[in-house]
Amino acid sequence: MNDRKTHTRTYLGVPLTRPTVAFFELSSCEGCQLQITNNESTLLDFLSLITVVNFREAMTEKSDEYDIAFVEGSVTRADEEDRLKTIRKNAKVLVAFGSCACFGGVNQLKNRFNDSAWVKKQVYGDYPIETNDEARPLDAFVTVDLRIFGCPIKKEEVEKIVVNIALGKAIVHPKYPVCMECKANENVCLFDLGEPCLGPITRAGCDSWCPNSRFGCWGCRGPAEDANMEQMKEIMKKYGFSEETMLDRLECFGGFAKDAEKLRQMLAAKP
Ligand code: SF4
Ligand code: SF4
Repeated sequence: MNDRKTHTRTYLGVPLTRPTVAFFELSSCEGCQLQITNNESTLLDFLSLITVVNFREAMTEKSDEYDIAFVEGSVTRADEEDRLKTIRKNAKVLVAFGSCACFGGVNQLKNRFNDSAWVKKQVYGDYPIETNDEARPLDAFVTVDLRIFGCPIKKEEVEKIVVNIALGKAIVHPKYPVCMECKANENVCLFDLGEPCLGPITRAGCDSWCPNSRFGCWGCRGPAEDANMEQMKEIMKKYGFSEETMLDRLECFGGFAKDAEKLRQMLAAKP
């Protein structure tokens, strides 16, 4: 993919470390890794900052010597737990890469069903694969140093984070919600177009990816700081959407698990 030697580059005369980087996948669709390989316009610049030593989607070589491990997917089997612990031992920095790794992602939807055989049948038909009963995020098993949110991740954001690592700069996630980016992008609010949206409570950083294409946000990046659930409920109600509609979205990626559980219990207790 690129030359394997680690060597020093400079930026404005400052030596930059060029970290060795490995990409791994646990249970996932591998869409987050695919986003990196899709990054044609800036891929070469991006790769000039790092030395990739492991990336099954893009190269055949493999190495257990890496500084940064990007791990995509959630843990759903015992062998994945073992693999994750080995990766943790090898890596100086372990990055939870995408919403499955950060929160369990879409995979965690299966945790709500008691009958795992039924779930397997629905998902895999006559070709079941081995999975544990629960899909869990990386930090249920190992220490995670950095989280990159999104389903899938936003490649521009990953590039910015990797550049900051190479420059030794802090990595700060936006605290504000998707609505801020949506307004900056001059979109018409989807509520005014008759579509529900979790933009008011979801962590920004995706550049309002879905609303830009007139799709309401499903909260794949998890809650913004100080996300106001009560106000979100009020907005849904004002525009004629039920609490069940809000619950569907809150449950989808696992980032709002606590809020979804609270709302689910509240709806179940309703006469
Ligand atoms: S479309 Fe969604 S993200 Fe955009 S302003 Fe409306 S609620 Fe916020
Ligand atoms: S708009 Fe919402 S669902 Fe879409 S990418 Fe951004 S955070 Fe995820």
